[in-house]
Amino acid sequence: MTTTNHELQDLLDNNKRWAAETEAGEPGFFSRLLKQQTPQYLWIGCADSRVPANELVDLLPGELFVHRNVANVVVHSDLNCLSVMQFAVDQLQVRHIIIVGHSNCGGVVAALKDLRVGLVDNWLRHVQDVRNVHQEWLDTLPGASRVNALCELNVLHQARNACHTTVVQDAWARGQPVVIHGWVYGLHNGLLNDLAMTVDDASAVEPSFRRALAALKARYPAPGAPA
Ligand SMILES: [Zn+2]
Repeated sequence: MTTTNHELQDLLDNNKRWAAETEAGEPGFFSRLLKQQTPQYLWIGCADSRVPANELVDLLPGELFVHRNVANVVVHSDLNCLSVMQFAVDQLQVRHIIIVGHSNCGGVVAALKDLRVGLVDNWLRHVQDVRNVHQEWLDTLPGASRVNALCELNVLHQARNACHTTVVQDAWARGQPVVIHGWVYGLHNGLLNDLAMTVDDASAVEPSFRRALAALKARYPAPGAPA
């Protein structure tokens, strides 16, 4: 127990310093947050430690509602993700839901290559479903491109799943403005790329998905091109 506390002391010290600096920079910061949170954005991203939501978009506590899981999957039966989405949309009235994948995602690699890792294999079946839909196209790509191509395909499919949830469908039906987005983060350069899967209406889901999918595929080498 003593060893554990010692190992974590740095984190607690960091926290004290961060809280003091934040309060000094903006007096009353925490007491204002205590009263309410009014984030405009829900971030659904990968659990990967290299993709910390708030830091990447330079937002403060209170400005970004966050849900993360392995490989940023939105599953219709995942009560955890759906509950986060419902609270964000119905209670917090967020205006944007952003599905954020990232390059070289370990979950996507495992799904692409049928690696057996453990319990997570079952979760990654959802990413394999995406792979299987696009297997023929993925097979035309040079091996090195396949992982990142599937990372991006996965974002588009999960963004479409988000559009199809009862939470988002109900919001649109009652005229509440909610926009779904698909982004991918480059681990190699720290930049977020908008995959242009931007949907604000039930009738726009499939056209937007098809446009974004065509644009995605156009960014990769055509079949037969030199690797
Ligand atoms: Zn990941």
